[in-house]
Amino acid sequence: MSDDDRQEDCIFCKIVAGEVPSEKVYEDETVYAFKDANPKAAVHVLIVPRHHYASVAELAKADPNTLAHIVQVAQQIADQDFHGAYRLIFNTGEDAGQSVFHVHAHVLTGQVMPE
Ligand code: ADP
Repeated sequence: MSDDDRQEDCIFCKIVAGEVPSEKVYEDETVYAFKDANPKAAVHVLIVPRHHYASVAELAKADPNTLAHIVQVAQQIADQDFHGAYRLIFNTGEDAGQSVFHVHAHVLTGQVMPE
């Protein structure tokens, strides 16, 4: 990743760059996936684009292919771990519970999810 792609003091930019440790689940040229440090399900994975975008809306506008790719990677994880069933969440904005402003998909799977 070039220096232009990252944002100073972004924890997920540092994880993508390998400067902060993470439990890698999957990676390719455009995305990086790792286990959430505070899992809310039997399997709780975060998928982030390598490039820094603050929100899913920003990503959708700038790079819709990568957003579609994130959905495909979520599907692959759930295919491996829980017969293809999963919850996919993008918290967007502080009042919706977003605390890290580098867009990330929460993939919740590995168990029957509560209603
Ligand atoms: P919230 O913290 O309310 O879930 P977000 O939707 O922004 O808000 O999610 C950030 C997620 O990132 C949280 O689930 C948190 O557990 C996870 N997280 C934060 N720092 C790390 C880290 N260093 N390694 C793994 N997961 C992390």
